[in-house]
Formats: sequence, structure tokens, C-alpha cells
Amino acid sequence: MHIPKFPLPSRPEIEIQFRMPTVADAMAFCDISDTYEERTTTSYLNQMQEGEINDSQLWTAQDRRTALWWIFSSSRIDCVVTYSYKCAFCGEEHYYDLDLRELDQYATLLDREPYIEGVEIPVNGEIYEWRFVPLNGIAMENLEIMRALLPEDRNSKEYKDAAANVRLWEYIYQTELFHDIDPDFQAKANRRYDLIKSMSIDTEFKQLIARIKTARDLLVHGLEIEFDQGVPRLVSPPHYCTKADKEEADRPSTRLLIPFRNHEFFPDL
Ligand SMILES: [Zn+2]
Repeated sequence: MHIPKFPLPSRPEIEIQFRMPTVADAMAFCDISDTYEERTTTSYLNQMQEGEINDSQLWTAQDRRTALWWIFSSSRIDCVVTYSYKCAFCGEEHYYDLDLRELDQYATLLDREPYIEGVEIPVNGEIYEWRFVPLNGIAMENLEIMRALLPEDRNSKEYKDAAANVRLWEYIYQTELFHDIDPDFQAKANRRYDLIKSMSIDTEFKQLIARIKTARDLLVHGLEIEFDQGVPRLVSPPHYCTKADKEEADRPSTRLLIPFRNHEFFPDL
């Protein structure tokens, strides 16, 4: 078996050649903690490349997830997972055998630059020029560390404050300031944090969030994934109700949301 070249969904002109996972890879990645799966994803995707390494920490979160699925579905003989769900049309339990390879019909390559630029939004009345970008591997690793450090008591004020801070960072990591060309990723992000915290909430900040969301829609790439309270879920191809007495195309269909956790796509023994 051989893994076909993987075009990075956010920059399809770049093609990555992965090698087949070995027993040694499975041993190296089998007992990873799922708390730090983004960090492990970076090492895994770098280690699996043939030839010159294109650092996966700089890929978008979608590139990374799609790459995990690409290696998984090109290297496994059996990619079928079975789901059961209660059908919203007939009320019965249906079983759906999903071949993960089918998801490639729903994966997309970006046909524009992987950022939106030239957006002017004021901070404290002063105009700044913003760029919007997808979350990258560095951001994903940092967000995962912040989530791991959240206080345990979910009802405490400390937890709520810290969780709000993580949500803010998730936005900050999707922005860039056009004039700030410091190569230090986190130093730049810290400056944006201070700046964004000083925005007026109802006007400037709301405008920023709206533009981040628009940018996200314009920059869709990779596997089709939806977020359910911050948790990524793969959108399944439509599954047709088996009860209805009609041709398949005329039957009502369901698209299931399947939890996507990076660590489930690592090789195991
Ligand atoms: Zn049904």
C-alpha cells in the first residue's frame, strides 16, 4: 500500500508525501494523552512525512485534521465505522455503516489565499488594519494547554472567567494585525490580546467577531466539520431513512455529526 500525495487543503499547491505507519509508529503514539493531542498531532504529522519536512505546526487546524484522516483512510484496510441513531422521520433506530473514505467527496481545497485581509476595524476609535486567518497548529496547541489548565469546578467564578479567556484567545488567534510583522507568533498574539481587550464591546468587538465569522465561512477547507459547543464533529454523508417506501433519492436523509478526536486517527496496535 502507498499513500497518495496529500494536497494541503488551505494551500493545495503544496503536496505532502506521507509514508505508511509502521508498528514502531503505533508504539510511539499508542499511549498519548488525549489532553495534549494537538501537540502529538504536530509530532506525528512531521514524523510521517517523507523527504523535507513541512512543519505541520504551521498548517491550519483543518489541514491537520484532514491529514490525519488522509493517512488513516489510505493505510487501513477497514475504514468502516458503524453508527446507530434514532431517525427523526420514522422514529426507528437505524444503523449506518460509514466508510470513512467516502468523506473525500465532501472535503474541499481552498481556491483562494488562506486569509482575508484589508479589513479596517477601530480600537478605541483608532483604525487598525486586520487580517483574518484560520487557527493554526501553534494556536491549537496553546488553546489545548489553556483548556487543560481550566479549574475543575465548572460552576466556580474562576472556571467561568478562565473559560471566557480561552474563548477570547480562540478569536485572537484568528486575527493578525497588518502592520505587525514580528516573527514571534506569541509576542504578536499578546499584543493583539491587549488591544482587543481594550475594544469597546458593543461596537468594535462585535464588529471584529462578525468579521472573524465571515472569514471562517469564506475560508472553508478540508473535511466538512461542524463545531458543537467547541467540539469538532465530522459531518457524515447523507444516510437515507430505510423505513420509507420510496426510491432512495426520494427518502428523507440524515447527516450525522460524528465526534472527531485527533487521537482516534493515530495508528494503534
Ligand atoms: Zn427512518
